[in-house]
Amino acid sequence: MPPTGLPRLPDGLPADAAVPYLTPPEDLAALLPAEPAYRVRQLRHWLYRAPVLTAAEMTDLPAALRSRLEPLWPFTLEAEQQGDHGDTVKWLMRAPDGASYEAVLMAYPERTTLCLSSQAGCAMGCTYCATGQFGFERHLQAGEIVAQAAYASARLRSRPLPGGPARLGNVVFMGMGEPLANYENLREALRLLTGEMGLSGRAITVSTVGVVPGMRRLAEEPWPLTLALSLHAADDDTRSALVPLNRRYPIDEVLAAARNYTAQKGRRLTLEWTLVAGVNDTPEQARGLAAIAIELRAHANVIPLNPTPLTRYRAPSPDRVRAFVDQARRAGANVTLRDTRGRGIDAACGQLRSRRAAEAG
Ligand code: SAH
Ligand code: SF4
Repeated sequence: MPPTGLPRLPDGLPADAAVPYLTPPEDLAALLPAEPAYRVRQLRHWLYRAPVLTAAEMTDLPAALRSRLEPLWPFTLEAEQQGDHGDTVKWLMRAPDGASYEAVLMAYPERTTLCLSSQAGCAMGCTYCATGQFGFERHLQAGEIVAQAAYASARLRSRPLPGGPARLGNVVFMGMGEPLANYENLREALRLLTGEMGLSGRAITVSTVGVVPGMRRLAEEPWPLTLALSLHAADDDTRSALVPLNRRYPIDEVLAAARNYTAQKGRRLTLEWTLVAGVNDTPEQARGLAAIAIELRAHANVIPLNPTPLTRYRAPSPDRVRAFVDQARRAGANVTLRDTRGRGIDAACGQLRSRRAAEAG
């Protein structure tokens, strides 16, 4: 049984059922045959502009209609964990076909940020990542991606996190999956997040491990998104050991695509660097990161590895983390040591799901 108060779908709901969030907003009239057009507009408002946890809360719709709209969500919540004194909440979502994915909501004094998933699992196989080790289940549909943001928004409206705004401020594609490997659904999700939900493109970050064709396509889209590149190493041998995709798209090609994105958008790139003891935490790597960050005018986020169940990799000691950051800064790079939100609750990429799978044997 899911924890009480969490949405639940009837057993056996087919994956393609006419769930409101899986229906493009322009086609919602098909879910409400024989209803006047203003009902469709009301529903659209509830789904995207003022999301609520249950259809029962859509107070200006007739009761009979509200009950027909259940189940509202295209997932059940299989688990919820809270950390950081209630300022981090992590959900494990399960689709009717059994695919599972997760989203993490984090409150900061000036903004509340949702980290969401673009795929159930991931096919990229990065050796430091719990999702990568788990393998690929399937792409998430655009509606499943957007529903994570709508659910977070509904949840914030009904019960804000203590340490942050009650409005969803930022969305980062840093949960499970490689967003640029699910391009069409990503693009449709971005259209809905910005158009229907009213988020600014500037408030959305797409993180990629370096899918070069996707980076080039994203540069042609209309939104001023922030692009985050998971770089993790300054030379191809080291990077290929961490990121198998580097053998297909080596650093030079990835950086050329990043440069093109920055030139098209005028947006500052973010470089992500997960610090792994004895692999990419040397002074030489720190200088390599600095050289790349300076050349691209990028901002570097360094985050110590969150250990995952299936790797032998470890995070460096706090002293060594500090030394790495200092070295990169002395070499002239703009570096932030990222906080490790949700450490106590398995909040790193894919970890809640892999723990559940391990518990289930
Ligand atoms: N597939 C995309 C987005 C999802 S991963 C990408 O790889 O960029 C989001 C971020 O989490 C990436 O920067 C990734 O490197 C980082 N990450 C993955 N596993 C991690 C771990 N065990 N510890 C710390 N960061 C991790
Ligand atoms: Fe996939 Fe990103 Fe994890 Fe690599 S780090 S396996 S691309 S989710």
